Amino acid sequence: MNQHLKDTFRHKGKRKLLVEELGKMGIEDPAILSAFNAIPRHYFLDLAFDEQAYTNMAFQIGSGQTISHPYTVAFQTQLLNIVKGDKVLEIGTGSGFQTCILCQLSAKVYSVERHMELHIKAKSMLTFFNFNAKLSFGDGYKGMPSYGPFDKILVTCGAPEIPRLLLSQLKVGGIMVIPVGEGVEQKMLRIIKEDEQNMKVEEFGTFKFVPMLEQTVKKI
Ligand code: SAH
Repeated sequence: MNQHLKDTFRHKGKRKLLVEELGKMGIEDPAILSAFNAIPRHYFLDLAFDEQAYTNMAFQIGSGQTISHPYTVAFQTQLLNIVKGDKVLEIGTGSGFQTCILCQLSAKVYSVERHMELHIKAKSMLTFFNFNAKLSFGDGYKGMPSYGPFDKILVTCGAPEIPRLLLSQLKVGGIMVIPVGEGVEQKMLRIIKEDEQNMKVEEFGTFKFVPMLEQTVKKI
């Protein structure tokens, strides 16, 4: 956890400006904007990035991974159309920032991370905020079958294709938001599971994510 868990007026002021910027960029849901105001992003970052925490940038969070751009977090969240009490599975806990945004929106969150170091850090952040999300250390390709099916599934790393096992853990009528693509860029997809055989797939532009890696988990 970050050693500087202090939310100064300076941080609050910068955060307000970021929220305004997100609004101008097309994030219209007031609940999402107020969640961004409520969760101090600088708590999830190394002190070295404190000054830049409220710019629309990604930063290193250790284990070779990055926290997503605030706009990306907000955009994916908006695509999910979170309703209070939704059961949400997140793949790629990373810093835990996105997890906290979902908790702030009153979702019941389950999140998987394959790096033990990040999993442990994120757990302490969720505890700090008193959110009771279920964080799991493991391979996100497997999902969390014993806790499913889920109303929503959010993948925060770039997948080479839509993982079938995850789709099988989505409720009929549920939404999966996932960046899909083989190279450095992915297409943001919103998938609506129409029934056990059919899905509706919509595309929402190009993004850059760290890859969703297969099989191996990384212990400390
Ligand atoms: N939501 C995070 C984004 C972190 S980047 C945040 O806001 O900080 C994506 C994360 O996905 C990385 O931490 C990476 O380790 C994780 N990841 C990649 N492949 C994975 C897999 N197969 N299972 C679980 N996590 C995975």
